[in-house]
Amino acid sequence: MVRFSTSFLDRASQAVHRSSAWSKLVVVIAVSSGGGLVAYADAKSDLRLEPSHRTCRKKVVVLGTGWAGTSFLKNLDTSLYDVQVVSPRNYFAFTPLLPSVTCGTVEPRSIVEPIRNIMKKKDGMIKFWEAECYKIDPASRKVHCRSSTGTNLDGNGEFAVDYDYLVIAVGAKPNTFNTPGVVEHCHFLKEIEDAQRIRRSIMNCFEKASLPNISEEERRKNLHFIIVGGGPTGVEFAAELHDFVTEDLAKLYPTVKDLVSISVIEAGGHILTMFDKRITKFAEDKFQRDGIQVKTNFRVMQVSDNAITMTNSTTGEVSVPYGMVVWSTGIGTRPIILDFMKQVGQGNRRVLATDEWLRVHGCDDVYALGDCATISQRKVMEDISAIFRVADKDNSGTLTLKEIKDVLGDICERYPQVELYLKSKRLKGFLDLLKDSDGNNVRESKEINIEEFKKALAVVDSQVKMLPATAQVAAQEGDYLARCFNKMKICAEHPEGPLRIRGQGRHRFHPFQYRHLGQFAPLGGEQTAAQLPGDWISIGRSTQWLWYSVYASKQVSWRTRMLVVSDWFRRFIFGRDSSCI
Ligand code: FAD
Repeated sequence: MVRFSTSFLDRASQAVHRSSAWSKLVVVIAVSSGGGLVAYADAKSDLRLEPSHRTCRKKVVVLGTGWAGTSFLKNLDTSLYDVQVVSPRNYFAFTPLLPSVTCGTVEPRSIVEPIRNIMKKKDGMIKFWEAECYKIDPASRKVHCRSSTGTNLDGNGEFAVDYDYLVIAVGAKPNTFNTPGVVEHCHFLKEIEDAQRIRRSIMNCFEKASLPNISEEERRKNLHFIIVGGGPTGVEFAAELHDFVTEDLAKLYPTVKDLVSISVIEAGGHILTMFDKRITKFAEDKFQRDGIQVKTNFRVMQVSDNAITMTNSTTGEVSVPYGMVVWSTGIGTRPIILDFMKQVGQGNRRVLATDEWLRVHGCDDVYALGDCATISQRKVMEDISAIFRVADKDNSGTLTLKEIKDVLGDICERYPQVELYLKSKRLKGFLDLLKDSDGNNVRESKEINIEEFKKALAVVDSQVKMLPATAQVAAQEGDYLARCFNKMKICAEHPEGPLRIRGQGRHRFHPFQYRHLGQFAPLGGEQTAAQLPGDWISIGRSTQWLWYSVYASKQVSWRTRMLVVSDWFRRFIFGRDSSCI
């Protein structure tokens, strides 16, 4: 995640995948990270500006310092804009290592980078306000903010910031599905503070269970750790906790070690459903061997101060006492976004929608990226008549194969589902869609009418998928948007995007295209599962080493990289710290 290194890393990792050689990855990572630093050094020399140039720059306001916001800032040419950042957090947090913080495998400060360190590398061209934006006012192009730390002389700490371009990257909040008692009694695992609280809570449970004069039943209750949600975060936390208990706490609390139980409650039929079935099966089998109970098809009804009530079609409602519950069932929309959605006519939606250029629908010059928004991919069938018209250059009412070939590149870029569909059906090219019912190729001289064209493309929209709410997506979106901002002027004169289907000329930029680089599921006991592009599955200890290499390389700075790696060494040598700090 070092500046400019992303595309290099992508290319490098593709090369590694092609060669299928794990051993080469560490070398590639080291090179790419170094490349990022060199790029930083180069970028500085561009930032010397005349004062007159500075005053006429457009104001860009960025909300949030998470994956999307930070990636945008790191890749933006800040000499072109007057950039202001508003966030209640004056640091970037490397969320994939949050589960490791809950058990002390990694220290909290090792995975955060102060946002001012990132700003320093931009020659102080970015202004940062530690505040929460509580209202976006698109009509007057202002965001209203409230300071998170202090107040001004009026005593309310509120201020407004004007923008020409607004980049919303405020992330999401945990989703409780309005289940009673969750907010009051459960831990979430979203922020650094959540991980610190969980770490303290685990130790408190062990200390409470070790007190004299309490019954065994009470000890068992205190040592029952429940994780609600069998997604990647819940599963990784369960695995971390199991390792912490068996590798460290069992030696320190020998009298109660056999009373510990860990349960994962999942509403669906399996855990890790977003992964390949082989990974799901491996994870479920491993958890069974480790004694982690996986309760699938259970829906939590309510959480009280000492028991969690859940229901299942065979058992009916059951109440289970617990010592600690971690709630990890996905994400929901933040109130500020819900309010903004109402203002821009998206009040009936669940998530803020943008177009494929990350522009908020119904709102000029406002962009939204990361977990707070979703790209609503335009459907081919919504535009089919317009696509036909654009392709039909001679207005003959039919399309020749040449006419189709001429616009094919633009169609595939504007509607990526076309290529996804071809891939899913193992078709070689678009013309395969036009084959007749006997599978014969179309003749060169054939002219296709609108009905045949519609029929050929009728099902391609089945491949439209929402992008997952991950750091990978958020970081790529931030990087993409920064690159668009950097070439805003050039592309206004020389548009680089696909043909406009419902307008004239070309789109200014290429639409955002997500490249999936794979995903990991750490399962504890130095074993990790990985699903890499091309459905390449790898599970075991060697994958754990790949995980270490990738996560070390993806750190935002050399400082955090060194800290994380030294934390891993410390854990290998001395074990995890059990102080209740
Ligand atoms: P965030 O990173 O959440 O950043 C949001 C920012 O907005 C924060 O700085 C916040 O302080 C700020 N903000 C909030 N409200 C306001 C406001 N009102 N005004 C101004 N600023 C505001 N993804 C992966 O790809 N791989 C993983 O392994 C992985 N592991 C994860 C593990 C955990 C425990 C968690 C919680 C998430 C994990 N994710 C992972 C998902 C990933 O962290 C998110 O998808 C990613 O953080 C989204 O980035 P974002 O920039 O949209 O939001």
